[in-house]
Amino acid sequence: MSKYIVGVDLGGTNVKTAIVTEEKKVVAKESRPTDAAAGPAAVMDLMAAAVKELAKQNNIAMSDVLAVGLGAPGPMNWQTGIVYSPPNLPGWNNVPLADEMRKRLGVPCFIDNDANVACYGEYWMGAGQGAESIVVFTLGTGVGGGIVVFNQLLRGIDGTAAELGHLTVQREGRLCGCGAKGCLEAYASVTGMVRTAREGWDAAETALKEMCGDDNEKLTGKMIYQAAASGDAYAKHVFDETAIWLGLGAASMVNALNPERIILCGGMINAGDMLFDTVRKTVRENAFEVPAKRCEILPAGLGEDAGVLGCAGCALARYQEENA
Ligand SMILES: [Zn+2]
Repeated sequence: MSKYIVGVDLGGTNVKTAIVTEEKKVVAKESRPTDAAAGPAAVMDLMAAAVKELAKQNNIAMSDVLAVGLGAPGPMNWQTGIVYSPPNLPGWNNVPLADEMRKRLGVPCFIDNDANVACYGEYWMGAGQGAESIVVFTLGTGVGGGIVVFNQLLRGIDGTAAELGHLTVQREGRLCGCGAKGCLEAYASVTGMVRTAREGWDAAETALKEMCGDDNEKLTGKMIYQAAASGDAYAKHVFDETAIWLGLGAASMVNALNPERIILCGGMINAGDMLFDTVRKTVRENAFEVPAKRCEILPAGLGEDAGVLGCAGCALARYQEENA
């Protein structure tokens, strides 16, 4: 009989849970509010209850669960299972998340950071399936990243690898949330795109001014995309600039890793060809010919589920390594 793996994706807003078989069949999934303000013990109780309830509803005994994989915001130590102090989980301070969850659930529990599990989800069940090396860029308020090489997550010696949003793309460039200047995230995130639009704002003739009531503090990425898609030249210029910055980051990864696929995730990918054509062109122009031709640049396949399914995939891989 097939055994099960459970993924639990702990976000600041929601806890998502999924039960998956070893053969990658998704048996069940659910989501419930995190109640982050209640503190770590209550959140861990809530996650344990979610796992047990979902298993019970599907007639799965916890003894048939091989492992539980937890995705959480960093910083953390993936090997010791300790979460340090994530900005969006108040009161979390050196919480031994893996051990505490093992106590509650009675099965091996593994933790990884949320960007890495989302990358692994795409590798395991999404747009990266069948490839042995992929790079994932997640485009949102920031730019997240993940790398799989030789079928394994690239975590680095301290577990801090794949911070692709903080590749330096400009000397003395825009100040980034991390404290450094010129990071990719400061240009290629949705926030970065809005910043680009504000820079040329005063001289611009654009429908964006009417869309945000001439107050560019109210400007959103969606407005820029909508105006660009309906032919507004300034909005299109801003969107293309954003895609070019992202393409430069992608080209660096193509030259560094020679990956089979680069996968883009997040709301911005709804722009389709308008985004992908420019990213692909920028990679062709800036990376070496052989790896640029090799690398497919594709939209994510799993959407919002990449994280929770990746939690399960990571846990299965780690369980198999420990029990090989
Ligand atoms: Zn940065």
